Amino acid sequence: MVIVGAGHTGGRAAHALRAAGWKGPIVLIGTEPHAPYERPPLSKGMLTGEKALGDVTLYDEDAWSREGIAHRAGATVGTIRRGAREVVLTDGTVIPYERLLLATGAEPRRLAIPGAGLPGVSVMRDIADSEALRARLGKGKRLVVIGGGFIGLEVASNAVSLGTEVTVVEAGPRLMTRAVPAPIEERLRARHIAAGVDVRLGRQVVAILGTDDVTGVRLDDRSEIACDTVLVAIGVVPRTGLAAAAGLGVDNGIVVDAELRTEDPNIFAAGDVCSFAHDLFGGHVRLESWKNAEDQGPIAARNMLGAAETASMAPWMWSDQYDVTIQIAGLPDRGSRIVARQLDPDSVILFHLADDGRLVAASGVGPNGSIGRAVRLGQMMIERSLYPDPRLLADPAVNLKTLMREQAA
Ligand code: NAP
Repeated sequence: MVIVGAGHTGGRAAHALRAAGWKGPIVLIGTEPHAPYERPPLSKGMLTGEKALGDVTLYDEDAWSREGIAHRAGATVGTIRRGAREVVLTDGTVIPYERLLLATGAEPRRLAIPGAGLPGVSVMRDIADSEALRARLGKGKRLVVIGGGFIGLEVASNAVSLGTEVTVVEAGPRLMTRAVPAPIEERLRARHIAAGVDVRLGRQVVAILGTDDVTGVRLDDRSEIACDTVLVAIGVVPRTGLAAAAGLGVDNGIVVDAELRTEDPNIFAAGDVCSFAHDLFGGHVRLESWKNAEDQGPIAARNMLGAAETASMAPWMWSDQYDVTIQIAGLPDRGSRIVARQLDPDSVILFHLADDGRLVAASGVGPNGSIGRAVRLGQMMIERSLYPDPRLLADPAVNLKTLMREQAA
């Protein structure tokens, strides 16, 4: 069993192979020098210093040898030879496989503008990125974040807490355009502005200024913002090159069926890199989230051994910014109508209903700890494909659990 990509998905898959009873060799190949780790803390606790490398690794150092998993760190696969069922590393090493899992993840989208290669201009994808950015934040420092998405806003809130002056430049008309509905965006934006973040919407950075190090950015309205660090957080692209070169189908990710199998029955793909057939929503979906890695790594592993599990759970993600948490279950963009349930003056859950009344997403915003239960119940309703009565959804006096039982009956 060979796994390409030693990130969260690959790490979980390797251990799940052993847990499912596979006694033969398991080889986990990854370019990074570290054992697999979880990425959410990179833009949160690792930036503020609350978390260190030891807190984010998936398994302790001994777990790899204990389970007999050969983790090849600092190694890159250059080619897949499907006919011979082997992968070839860029150093020429040939590794045969019976089944292969591609868990190559995604990489930050780059900005093709003058100055983009200057020292002090960074992205956020791995531990090295997080550590390098952390060293440039603090009192008296000025950071420009390009992109008002998950990374940009989490970094902004933590950079502010470290005393950094922060400007967020977002090309779209609002923050987190695709990820969250307008009421949640408004709440988050207000919180950032209250914390002192300068939020520039509908603006593009056209040049990054500086000679030896970054000194500022120029926007498309010709205004300039002085800074000593720039974070480019404008989304990610799935790493599909290896699969495409091997002749596997690629369409916004490596195309797999609901069991995460590519058109080659011996090759699977999981995590950020795969576009999978989603039973619950119809069509192919590609998800970029911690929960997806957590779920799909083990499912792919068991299917590599002959199980036939489908990856049909509702997507779920969260973000912490200042004292506010947001959570999203399901796919809000599949909904055409929003029903709001005010849990308390500071916390609201939005239920997203499709044209036919089916619940397709639940999103929420509130102080840390206030919305988890309601979003979790929403997630269960989504997974049961329920058509809840909007009036009952909106009424905070109606227990969602009761509603779920009634609806299921
Ligand atoms: P993202 O959440 O997709 O946000 C990127 C943002 O940048 C979008 O709002 C996008 O607007 C904007 N943008 C695109 N081109 C731009 C430009 N030239 N100038 C200014 N803004 C531009 O991506 P991300 O923040 O880079 O995060 C990368 C990945 O990590 C994502 O997959 C994300 O889900 C994941 N992540 C998740 C979490 C979490 O779940 N809490 C935390 C961190 C990271 P448009 O949408 O209009 O293009």
